[in-house]
Amino acid sequence: MAEQIVSINPSTLNPIESINVTTREELLEVVKKARQAQAAWEVLGFDGRKPFFDRLSAYMLDHYEDIAKFISRENGKPYLEAILAEVYPSIDVVNYYSKRAKKLLSDKKIPIRIFKFMGKKSYIMYKPAGVVGIISPWNYPFAIPFSEIIMALVAGNAVILKPSELTPLIGKKIKELLDAAGFPEGLFSVVYGDGRIGAEMVKAQLSKIIFTGSVATGKKIMAAAAENLTPVVLELGGKDPMIVLKDADLDMSARGAVWAGFMNSGQTCASVERVYVDESIRDAFVERVVDYTGRIRQGDTLENESTDMGSMIDQRQLSIVENHVKDASSKGAKILTGGNRPQDLKGYFYKPTVLVDVDHTMQVMTDETFGPLLPIMTFKTEEEAVRLANDSRYALTASVWSKDITRAESLARRLIAGTVTVNDHIMTYGIPETPWGGSKESGFGRTHADMGLLEFVEPVHIHIDRAWLKNKPWWYPYDKKTVLFLKVMFWMTRKMKFLMS
Ligand code: NAD
Repeated sequence: MAEQIVSINPSTLNPIESINVTTREELLEVVKKARQAQAAWEVLGFDGRKPFFDRLSAYMLDHYEDIAKFISRENGKPYLEAILAEVYPSIDVVNYYSKRAKKLLSDKKIPIRIFKFMGKKSYIMYKPAGVVGIISPWNYPFAIPFSEIIMALVAGNAVILKPSELTPLIGKKIKELLDAAGFPEGLFSVVYGDGRIGAEMVKAQLSKIIFTGSVATGKKIMAAAAENLTPVVLELGGKDPMIVLKDADLDMSARGAVWAGFMNSGQTCASVERVYVDESIRDAFVERVVDYTGRIRQGDTLENESTDMGSMIDQRQLSIVENHVKDASSKGAKILTGGNRPQDLKGYFYKPTVLVDVDHTMQVMTDETFGPLLPIMTFKTEEEAVRLANDSRYALTASVWSKDITRAESLARRLIAGTVTVNDHIMTYGIPETPWGGSKESGFGRTHADMGLLEFVEPVHIHIDRAWLKNKPWWYPYDKKTVLFLKVMFWMTRKMKFLMS
């Protein structure tokens, strides 16, 4: 009998459905079909592909509530948050790229200065990468793979998705949506299983691997991809700092910290994982953070739509949170609220927790927690704030909070991160025009925005010589014509800079 994954609802621990694990042989068949489907899809051109995306957007607009409930059930996040952070941004991505991609992927002329007077021209054409493999995590099990799938398909690729083994049904749901919009057979497929089938995908000589997940897995994927020189984009973990300057709007910053620290139960790569507050406003800020944290309504989100915070994904993730709290407490940190699991809830819940008296000897300030912990530390000077924020092996996102936008902006420009926001955090993931990605151990490459779309294409330089010169001066034999050509080039470089630079 085929190996199976049993998907469970992490809020109730009830099983939802079982799904067969994909075998290596099945994966290779999927790759073969994807290659065939991709060739026909590429030939359609952007105008031929666009109606599929228009149908997909319309279908999703009609079914967004069902999709959100489905996500909430398998992932444990609040239903309204599933709409806010998963379904709506995904529909927006479809609409954005189906409008914008044509211009972005059209041929781009390259000015080649003097060479154009020799009858030459150059331009870039963007060729689809081919068959793209997407390996995704469970924390945004819909929005993350979905936006990548759309970028890949819009650019003319076929896609094979491997969703996390903790949220396989959401992968299946994505397939249902694309099928409902009539995307061609074999163009988009989903394979199911854990890291073993993910590793087989990396070996399958796909044109590109887009991976979102942990640093440890990212390193394994990059090493395995090197065997075939398969290009990879790695969207990895984060330990994102929030700097609250002394002139920050206290109430807004406290609300912002609580939301960006605890949304999705803190299981967001770009969650606020470290807060640095100016010591002069520490007490007033902390008091507000504790107050707003105390107002969070936690529970099974499908039972009550107004729940703010759902469950975490599994026991492994919960244990990391518990260990970080234990480590911090043993080194002198103080828990102001939370610090344990709610007794009245059955699933993988952990109370939103605020810690103070923390420092960089504690895991909670150095390692990715990926859970509902908000450790708050103080700084004396802005120099110190920048130094503390940049003292991390991660560099995904960061934020600066102040009423003085110029001051905040100049500080923002000194932080090491892929995205730095002023007076907000995380939410730019929902703006498809803006790029997403990090550096250091947060990975490399970008998704979203124009530069994200370009990850899915191969830029091909086409160079045309109109054959005005039958014997090029740089061809053999090197003789008097070569000398004359070089003289002219040097003379022009000195005298006619406008043609040569
Ligand atoms: P994970 O690394 O455990 O798993 C991610 C995916 O990789 C899963 O589908 C898994 O089955 C697969 N996988 C595991 N081993 C593999 C292997 N050897 N070869 C190929 N595939 C393999 O990560 P996770 O626990 O699912 O996700 C949480 C992590 O993802 C956190 O660190 C978080 O910060 C990160 N994340 C980053 C971003 C971002 O945009 N930078 C977004 C979301 C999550």
